[in-house]
Amino acid sequence: MLESPLTSVKGIGPKRAELFETLGVTCVRDLLFRLPRDYLDYTKAVPISQLVNGQNAAVQVRISGAARYFRKKGMTMLSAPAQDETGKITLKWFNQPYRSSQLQIGEITYACGRVLKKNGVSLLNPSLSQALPGIVPVYPTVKGMNQRAWRDSMLACLESVWDKIPEPLPRTILERYSLVPLALALRHAHFPFSREALELARRRLDFENTLLYFIIVELQKAERLRQNGFSFDTSGVLNRFTAQLPFSLTKAQLRVIEEISIDMRAPVPMNRLLQGDVGSGKTAIAMYALCVAAGNGKQGALLAPTEILAEQHAQNFTELFGDTVVLLKGSMKKAQRDAALKQIADGSALFIVGTHALLSEDVRFCDLGCIVTDEQHRFGVRQRAAMLEKGTRPDMLVMSATPIPRTLALILYGDLDISVIDELPPGRKPIKTSVIRASKREDMYAYIAAQAKEGVQSYVVCPAIEESDTIECPSVDALYAELKKKLPETRIAKLHGQMKEADKERVMRAFRTGETDVLVTTTVIEVGVHVPNACIMVIEGAERFGLSQLHQLRGRVGRSAKQAYCFLLYGVESSEENERMLTMTQTNDGFEIAQKDLLLRGPGDFIGTRQHGEDGSGLLSGAMDARLLEEAARAAKEILQQGGEESARLIELASERYGTLLGDIAMN
Ligand code: ADP
Ligand code: MG
Repeated sequence: MLESPLTSVKGIGPKRAELFETLGVTCVRDLLFRLPRDYLDYTKAVPISQLVNGQNAAVQVRISGAARYFRKKGMTMLSAPAQDETGKITLKWFNQPYRSSQLQIGEITYACGRVLKKNGVSLLNPSLSQALPGIVPVYPTVKGMNQRAWRDSMLACLESVWDKIPEPLPRTILERYSLVPLALALRHAHFPFSREALELARRRLDFENTLLYFIIVELQKAERLRQNGFSFDTSGVLNRFTAQLPFSLTKAQLRVIEEISIDMRAPVPMNRLLQGDVGSGKTAIAMYALCVAAGNGKQGALLAPTEILAEQHAQNFTELFGDTVVLLKGSMKKAQRDAALKQIADGSALFIVGTHALLSEDVRFCDLGCIVTDEQHRFGVRQRAAMLEKGTRPDMLVMSATPIPRTLALILYGDLDISVIDELPPGRKPIKTSVIRASKREDMYAYIAAQAKEGVQSYVVCPAIEESDTIECPSVDALYAELKKKLPETRIAKLHGQMKEADKERVMRAFRTGETDVLVTTTVIEVGVHVPNACIMVIEGAERFGLSQLHQLRGRVGRSAKQAYCFLLYGVESSEENERMLTMTQTNDGFEIAQKDLLLRGPGDFIGTRQHGEDGSGLLSGAMDARLLEEAARAAKEILQQGGEESARLIELASERYGTLLGDIAMN
């Protein structure tokens, strides 16, 4: 039944079916699982005086005058005055002239639409009805199909199979975790009777997705623990390593190194996530892991998300390990690249540092024993799997500056153990962060020029490279020109991702060595860049960045014992932006900021890219709910322990849905 073609549903003809097909929706099941991307809450009428600009709202009004009809720039507009006890409103429709026949003076009606507050209050393209529409689903925008067509199709689809939707979860699980049956959940996810019903529905669907995913994660873990990995000898490595370091390791670093040593000695492949705030000293840990590999005659690879970062790592490594270090990046000349590939293949390179370029097929390692991924959130699960293929069950360490709860980490990264660096190197002063009003902008740049004379360097980050109509804050190009003019005695450079590699390198080197004072740049410096003498971070258009990103950017300063400052400039004000800025001025704690970011934006945005599922039935939509994650993780373990037919059926379902995401799992 669920596999029936869409045309079997009443009201869906070949034409509409074709439109759905462009979305990858070909059968009844596909359509049922296309959940709304949003909902409009028209469960109660809002008094006109309380309407908020931009919100979607229902009002109950009396049509108070005759409708008027305009033509403007090839559009027709119909407008009608209306009111309730608290105020007046204009109802406006674009290109819907037929509406005029529906409007009768004195009639009382509900009108639902988007509020615009500009020269009075209006409601744009409202729908009119005698009863409140309740909670209305909003589906993805598709050319040639309006929301009404979506809703009609969905309703017809639900009705055609309503009593034939099989229940995938065992009754015991439904009962233990208070979950509604699938059929009911689908019904309410599309057409909820109430907020509560919607929440129960989403919880149920999220639970199922998360549970099945965790089953895969658990199976993968069991599989890993069965594998033979290389058992590294770690004796003496730490002493040799620390003897070369210019500082002594913090307690937290030593603890993590011990955890990694235990993993690497064990005869199963390590799979560990290292979380530590920006500046907590993760690079040293990466070096240690690669030293263990090298000490055992094996190669180690460090994967970095940007070329700038890869170069910086390569430089640090070369200082310690000389010409056993090789750098591989996308922008290399062929001769250089071939030389690097050769050293990687013949084993003369022991420390291999690179970008995504390391993943390409012609990169063959001689004997890859350990892989470290820096700033893991920039890489997808698939890329991690591709890297693993390059060795024979190599040890894997992934590092992230974005601390997140364990269960969410499981969703993002799959099966792994977690280490945390919860301590900064000694002598760091907390960065002082303040919000700069437009009126103080000039003073701030004067301060930066004065600091430059004292030898203190600054970053100035802009959201865009070039001027554009849509962005109101300055671009890298514009600001660079402006500052050049304004601060003639300051040495200013610009850096962005679209520059030639050689130019980027030259600019970065000049900044590192202090030949330039101010670097006007984009988020290319967001991760990992380390210039201790840069103590001031200016972020223009700060409202355009998410909290975790602001924290990362700020983390570029405060890397020495000198007091560092972060100045946030922003144009538009809304309560959410204010809240973000406030959080930034109040705390330097990455964990706190990550939590807040999770709350404000939800996990999908939080990780930047969607890593799972090709459609929007987002595994991550449930990841906000810590309890749901815990329960689903527990249920997955129970199901696998219990074994039997039910468990086998769920494993099959899980591998159908998520098996390919985490690589093939040996079933036996
Ligand atoms: P992140 O965790 O953000 O990658 P880094 O590894 O880049 O941080 O370290 C930031 C800076 O702190 C580097 O200059 C590094 O040399 C320094 N550092 C790391 N560990 C220590 C330590 N134990 N004592 C003093 N400085 C340290
Ligand atoms: Mg780093």
